[in-house]
Amino acid sequence: MQTDLTERDLDVAERILPRYVGAGPRYTSYPTVPVWQDAFPEAEHRRALARAGESGEISLYTHVPFCRSLCHFCACNRVITRDPALPERYLEAVDRELETTRAVMSHSPRCVQIHWGGGTPTHLEPAQIERLFRSTTDRFALAPGAEISIEVDPRVTREDHVATLADCGFNRISLGVQDTAPATQAAIHRIQPFEQTRALTIAARARGIERVSFDLIYGLPHQTEESFDRTLDAVLSLEPDRLALYAYAHVTWIAKQQRGFERSDLPGPRLRMRIMMRAIRRLTLAGYRYIGMDHFAKPADELSGALDAGTLRRNFMGYTTLDGVDVVAFGPSAISELPGTYVQAEKDLAGWGEVVTRDRLATHRGYVLSAEDARRRALIRAIMCQGEIRPDAFAARLGPDAARAIAQDVKSARPRLAPFVEDGLVELKDSGALRVTALGRLFLRQIAMIFDAHLGDASPGKPAIYSQTV
Ligand code: SF4
Repeated sequence: MQTDLTERDLDVAERILPRYVGAGPRYTSYPTVPVWQDAFPEAEHRRALARAGESGEISLYTHVPFCRSLCHFCACNRVITRDPALPERYLEAVDRELETTRAVMSHSPRCVQIHWGGGTPTHLEPAQIERLFRSTTDRFALAPGAEISIEVDPRVTREDHVATLADCGFNRISLGVQDTAPATQAAIHRIQPFEQTRALTIAARARGIERVSFDLIYGLPHQTEESFDRTLDAVLSLEPDRLALYAYAHVTWIAKQQRGFERSDLPGPRLRMRIMMRAIRRLTLAGYRYIGMDHFAKPADELSGALDAGTLRRNFMGYTTLDGVDVVAFGPSAISELPGTYVQAEKDLAGWGEVVTRDRLATHRGYVLSAEDARRRALIRAIMCQGEIRPDAFAARLGPDAARAIAQDVKSARPRLAPFVEDGLVELKDSGALRVTALGRLFLRQIAMIFDAHLGDASPGKPAIYSQTV
């Protein structure tokens, strides 16, 4: 992927920006969630689960939905509570869900990746973390060297949490930071002195959890280029292995509390783009590799290795490693990526719990991919992860027919790609290859949208589904 943005690119980006402002998917899946079928049949879920892990490896995701207070930018599925009874009931339910799921699976893959997200997984007490970890590893044998990672909120994660995580074997910790500026923190209802982030980073490393990631968000209220520079100064002082720099998604139809942000407090598309471009230049100068749309990793980090090996993956966790390994997910709203099938669990905590404690699968939404969907998914993933489409590279994985069809897809898209070529965002080759330029990296979502055969399906009667792409 090209990353060498110049001052001139900044000028060009600002000039062409109005042509690309609009809403669009983030392509954490293809087809995207709004296209999936509601009331997906549990029998279909069971069929896909029975085939999961055929490769001998599996990745497990667990959604822990609890948070102590609501961050006003947040559009995640979370339950704000201080009631200790809820996590207890959740742990009983997720244990049953693990048991039922394992019983449906006909293969016995080794678990090569565990990720706990939320919500706030460290809302659980250390003993509860240990219990959930045991519930998981009792059902799924861990492969040596498995990546075991967790998202943590520095405001609630204590030294004894870190000790327990280290004892369980967690080897990557991902800290929610978002922004360090007091005005932004006040507006988003997330007061987090940087000292908490620093102390937790130091504590994790001291306990042997070497791999540390930070999550930041640009496009939040009151952010300026200068204020975000100071956030970058602070986080770079701790030398994280990985940084995710997400675009704030203003999706008030999902996250009603976002309506509290005065529109005038939010940076517009031009400022958002300037903040992002400046961050890309600063982070690459600091030695990080720019991964996909919004991740940065040190050269020795696994994400950089996956980029080089062509195994970078884009899914609901953002960018991750181990493309081609099925993901089985647990907890309310969690999404599984099974052979040829996506499935999302029931979102409501009580509704999910009620189903799984009856030893059923809490199947909610899902989608079975057609051959064309699978081909377009490969193509869109190549754009989002590698920044290029080389039809010959698909021949080995998908067969010569699919590779030919992909070359044809690119050829058919030429008229719609023409403005992108003219603006210097994309280069096309006679072989059917497509390459995204360094400037084009800022418009990956819009380029991928050209190949999305379902965009029209997602929107009938629903004017607002996706966030702004810039
Ligand atoms: S941002 Fe994280 S801590 Fe804040 S409400 Fe959302 S899930 Fe909870």
